Parts: sequence; C-alpha cells; structure tokens
Amino acid sequence: MEAGPAPEARPLMDEQTFLDNFSHLNCPRKTYLCYEVELLVGENSIPLDEYKDFLHNEGADMGLERRHAELIFLDRMASWNLDTELRYRVTCFISWSPCADCADELVKFLRANGHIYLRIFAARIYERFPGYEEGLRALNAAGAEVAMMTFQGQHGTHEGWGGQARPW
Ligand SMILES: [Zn+2]
Repeated sequence: MEAGPAPEARPLMDEQTFLDNFSHLNCPRKTYLCYEVELLVGENSIPLDEYKDFLHNEGADMGLERRHAELIFLDRMASWNLDTELRYRVTCFISWSPCADCADELVKFLRANGHIYLRIFAARIYERFPGYEEGLRALNAAGAEVAMMTFQGQHGTHEGWGGQARPW
C-alpha cells in the first residue's frame, strides 16, 4: 500500500463548543455529531483520519431547510463510498440521541451497508418526541451499538442504556 500524503491538520472542535453541547448540564437546541472511522483488519483497527470531523444539524435559523445531524451524516457517509470488500467501524459522538425518524434512516443504511459497523455515543437522550426508545432498540437490533457518553464521573445510567465513552 502506498503511503498517501500527510493528512492535513484539522481543527478539532473547540473546547467551549464541546462543553456547551456535550455537557449534561446544558440543554442546547443544536445537535452536534462528531465522528471517526476505523478500518477493521483482523483484530486490529486502523484510524482513518481523513474521515474524522464533526457537523451539526441545519435549522431554519440558518436560512436552511431543517435537517437533523444524522441525516447530514448519512449523506456524508454515503459519499465516501467505503469499500464494500473491507470492514469499517464508524463511531459517532452525538449531543442528542437520534430521534425515531433518524434511527429509521440509520437502520436502513446499516441494512444496506453490512461492511459498516456503527457505534453511537449520545450525551443526552432526545425524548421530546415519542418513539425514540423503539428507534434506539431498532438501531441495536440492526447491529449498532448505542450507549450514553460519560463525563467526569457521570455515568450513563439512563434506564436501559448504560455505557461508556470518552469525550471527543
Ligand atoms: Zn432526527
């Protein structure tokens, strides 16, 4: 395998944006989604830094059609055309868990893309609309791992969704 060019330095999310959106103490309106991708080779995982970034949802306040972060992310993932002969692990850290509609779309994507294994770590459960629990269970059933992020001693103990993650 030829060595590619050195990856460009990417500005990581600044700390304040992270704290504002991922701390369990806040209840922001925006949804941020940080993601990273690893290539799985046998027992090993190789980070693919070119697919490491973050995005947020688009809303009417930005003069854009409303789109949830997960749907923007799905488009982005599809555009990568990850090699179907290989296996990948995509990890998302998201400030709100997927709503039922987004969970549905993620499940469809996973069913059509067996080479992609998805892990979602959510800072908060988005429980504003009904159906989110079924959505999260459907994601689990489709092979995704869904867990709560933990922060500085906070443990993800939301009923049924224990888990651990590191912050970004
Ligand atoms: Zn959604």
